[in-house]
Amino acid sequence: MDYEASKGWHSPRIVPYQPITLDPASKVFHYGQTVFEGLKAYRTDNGSILLFRPEENFKRLNRSNERLSIPHLDEEIALEALKQLITVDQDWIPDEDKTSLYVRPFIIANESSLGVAPSQNYMFMIILSPVGSYYAEGIHPVKIFVESEYVRAVKGGVGNAKTAGNYAAGLKAQEEAAAKGCTQVLWLDGVERKYVEEVGSMNVFFSINGTIVTPALNGSILDGITRKSIIELLKSWNIPVEERKLSIGELVEAYHNGTLEEAFGTGTAAVISPIGELHYLDEQLLLRGGETGPLSRKLYETLTGIQTGVIADPFGWTVELPSA
Ligand code: PMP
Repeated sequence: MDYEASKGWHSPRIVPYQPITLDPASKVFHYGQTVFEGLKAYRTDNGSILLFRPEENFKRLNRSNERLSIPHLDEEIALEALKQLITVDQDWIPDEDKTSLYVRPFIIANESSLGVAPSQNYMFMIILSPVGSYYAEGIHPVKIFVESEYVRAVKGGVGNAKTAGNYAAGLKAQEEAAAKGCTQVLWLDGVERKYVEEVGSMNVFFSINGTIVTPALNGSILDGITRKSIIELLKSWNIPVEERKLSIGELVEAYHNGTLEEAFGTGTAAVISPIGELHYLDEQLLLRGGETGPLSRKLYETLTGIQTGVIADPFGWTVELPSA
């Protein structure tokens, strides 16, 4: 679908996956005026397809649009476009490998102009990519590097918008973390490097003395849809959840006094990712002996069960598409 200032959004269409042509002066290349989303579709045992909370993704896309001066997109039209696209393109179905379909809606500014001003033209696209199960050999914990030099996003900058620049800012730290044997970076706040924010592509939760603590949304932490779902799920199980500021110092102290019981990340890709090790400065905090904790496992099984239609969805999170 295209946007021109004089016409608004127009010309929705489904075309085979193929390269697109852009002018080298397109604003997206120079000023990063672009936003994206990520969600998954799952195939159920009866052959239908379930989308997980897709309206939330389009709401968040519009919040990112607002910050990047990109025109509002009709959320119902966007969802309808997604449903039609998935219904047309069902090549991903072979499912012994628990294949799901990763969905990437995104918008780019494609006006050809080197002036620093919001683009007059945009393209909204959705691409699909089948993905195997994140955990081919069962859920397993990750090692995380706590980043104390670089910052990912700050409130007042592009902040919690899901936009390319926030991810570009994270690449260097990600590379350094990988060189130290860690798969992800845990970001601290951009002002004091003191408070825990989130992981590269996940929000984070910690079980401290029987309470589940997750950093409160603060304008720079991504408003994760899995995060929101996990909070609702925990509350439905009467497990106390606190959304608040959480300093890295408090975590290290809880680790040393034995009250840091479990830690996990939440996000579309892995759903739940147990944290087995946290590397912070010279310390390596080994959690649960590097094994998956019981709460992480229960949350993973419940949420993936709801997403794949194996467990009834009491929350109304899934949107069912008819089988082809
Ligand atoms: N934080 C960041 C920076 C992310 O990129 C993601 C993935 N979208 C998340 C958290 C988790 O968000 P969600 O649960 O909506 O996938």
